[in-house]
Amino acid sequence: MGSFFNVVGLRVPIKQSIVTPRSSCPICKHQLKAYELLPVLSYLIQKGKCRGCQSRISPIYPAIELLTGILFMTAPYAVGWSGELVIALTLISMFMVIVVSDIHYMIIPDKILIWFAGIFLLERILIPLTPWWDGLLGAAAGFLLLLLIAVVSKGGMGFGDVKLYALLGFVIGLKLVLLSFFLSTLFGAVIGGSALLFRIIKRRQPIPFGPFIAAGTLTAYYWGNDLIRVYLQLLNYS
Ligand SMILES: [Zn+2]
Repeated sequence: MGSFFNVVGLRVPIKQSIVTPRSSCPICKHQLKAYELLPVLSYLIQKGKCRGCQSRISPIYPAIELLTGILFMTAPYAVGWSGELVIALTLISMFMVIVVSDIHYMIIPDKILIWFAGIFLLERILIPLTPWWDGLLGAAAGFLLLLLIAVVSKGGMGFGDVKLYALLGFVIGLKLVLLSFFLSTLFGAVIGGSALLFRIIKRRQPIPFGPFIAAGTLTAYYWGNDLIRVYLQLLNYS
C-alpha cells in the first residue's frame, strides 16, 4: 500500500496514469524489476542508489512505505476492531498520498480530495458520528477557520489546505477538527522553528504543511478526547 501511495502522490499531480508506465529511475529511465520494487528492502539492499546509474534515490520512498506499514498495523490498537477502523485506514491512506504530493510539488490535488471525499461520504453514512450532524458542523468550521487564515496570511496557507480541512471536519467532527488544527500548527511551529534554528531551511522558504496536518489530525483523532479530558482536569486542579 505504501508503494502505491508513493506512485499516486507522485503521478496524480502531474496528470500521469497510476498504472502505466511501469516505475523507472527518473534519471536514467532504467525500468525497475520486481526485486527492485520490494518496499523498504530494495532501498536498503541497493544502499539508496539506482542499480542503473548509481544516482541517489529519495529517502521519502522507503519512509512512506515504512510509515504506512506502521500506521496500518497500529490503527486497530488506537480505534479498536470496529467500523471506525475503516475510517482510520482511509484517513491514513489519504494522508500518505497528500504528504507525498505536498513534499514533492507543494500542492494537494483536487482530484485526490474529491476521490477521498466520495469514499468518506459513503463511509460516514454507514459508520456515522454521534450526533450524525457533527460532521456538517466540523466541515463548516474547518472550511471557515482555514479560509480566514488563508485570507489573512495572503497565501501562507494554500487553498488546498482549506478544502482538506473541510473534509477532515466532516470525517472527525467539530471538536476534534479544531484540536487537529491546533496540534498541526503547534507541530509545524516546533519543527519548522527548529529547522530554521539549525539552518536546515531558510527564512521565508515555504514548507509543506501537509505532513503537520497529517500528524496533528491523527493525534487528535486517536487521542483527542483523552487530551481534552486531561487538559480540563488540569484546569480544575489549578
Ligand atoms: Zn538510474
